Amino acid sequence: MNMSTFLAQRKAAEVRYADKRPRSKELFDRASTVMPGGSTRSVLDVQPFPFRVASATGSQLTDVDGITYIDFLGDYSAGLLGHDPAPVRAAVTAALENGWSFGGVHTDEIRAAEAIVDRFPSVEQVRFTNSGTEANLMALQLARHHTGRDRIVVSDGAYHGGLLYFGHGGEALLAPFDFMRVTYNDIDALPAIDSTVAAVLIEPMMGAGGCIPARQEYLEALRRRCDETGALLIFDEVMTSRMSAGGLQQRTGVTPDLTTLGKYLAGGMTFGAFGGRSDVMAAFDPARGGTLTHGGTFNNNVVSMAAATAALSELLSERALSPLFSRGETLRSRLSDLFHASALPLVTTGVGSMMAIHTVDGPVRGPHDLQHSDHELKQLLFHEMLHRGCYFAPRGFIALSLDITDAQCDTFLDAMSDAIDAISASQ
Ligand SMILES: *Cc1c(COP(=O)(O)O)cnc(C)c1O
Repeated sequence: MNMSTFLAQRKAAEVRYADKRPRSKELFDRASTVMPGGSTRSVLDVQPFPFRVASATGSQLTDVDGITYIDFLGDYSAGLLGHDPAPVRAAVTAALENGWSFGGVHTDEIRAAEAIVDRFPSVEQVRFTNSGTEANLMALQLARHHTGRDRIVVSDGAYHGGLLYFGHGGEALLAPFDFMRVTYNDIDALPAIDSTVAAVLIEPMMGAGGCIPARQEYLEALRRRCDETGALLIFDEVMTSRMSAGGLQQRTGVTPDLTTLGKYLAGGMTFGAFGGRSDVMAAFDPARGGTLTHGGTFNNNVVSMAAATAALSELLSERALSPLFSRGETLRSRLSDLFHASALPLVTTGVGSMMAIHTVDGPVRGPHDLQHSDHELKQLLFHEMLHRGCYFAPRGFIALSLDITDAQCDTFLDAMSDAIDAISASQ
């Protein structure tokens, strides 16, 4: 099996893709004259051009050429509630009746904050932002302010937002902090965290970094090391908070000092939040001697606050999240069986409803195990699955929404089996 064969197949698949989507191609050309690369969110780029979505309902997307897809991407996890959750729609519609852009405080922001403080025991107080990136930037500055230290420890290959990407190509846009990188899951590297460190920023499962779970012993050792050195432990749960009502921190039992949130929590509306220990968050409370101000015109925007309140109180219960977790575990295990039975270099990793498909011979313990990924095979598999009506990220990322059914998971596995056969047959 060699790379050039996958390359030829990938090119053929792209031609087939382009032939079926003239309208998307036309709109891509138009978009490219006014937006560099024809895009305003780089992760949505698809080779040779992205299909353009016309509408979405439940777990389905329809593009401008009239092709429909089962949506296994779930907006990179922000679409957990599916495309038109009724309680969110109702809450937003009701909120709009009372006007927006108040330039004043209102009631839904309290309800949203109460719901978050209620469900994440480590979060005693919270503040809202407009994105996960912003939440992480605020949390890092807060940790520097609290500790009087500058150094920030991150994991090599991690993604914590547009200005906080520690993988290939992220360097040029990195926010200018004093970062120290460690290897994810490497307990032996923890002594490097010393008393100059303000914070350790980590996802309890690397999401964009490849759906790589943290080992339990690693998280526990990390917690201990932070306690020994006085560094704040920040869990980026922008993606992983879906793993239970109390987030992945509840499942692992490891409690961070600060937590950042985002993506799905406002039911698909713009959202970010950071929160945690009250004594740390007090930096924003003038009554407790706090001197930090927290700007953000849209921090308490009525749409996101109403949507978050509805999502948290009506849809994101343990009763909803627990079966979703199991459905994901089942899908990943069956996918793994399929990959084992195939001669192609395919591996899947993940936790619960989020997983990634890797084109390596495995095993995958950290991002360094992905260095020799077969890029051509990954792109080819993406197109073969899209051809069979299943959409997930070109890089192999899958996030199930609450609207995805067991029958749709069966469809996915059948399509995958078929795609593997088609790819293998041409080798
Ligand atoms: C998506 C993501 C972010 C950034 O959130 P945005 O709202 O896109 O800025 C941060 N951390 C993790 C783990 C993410 O997956």
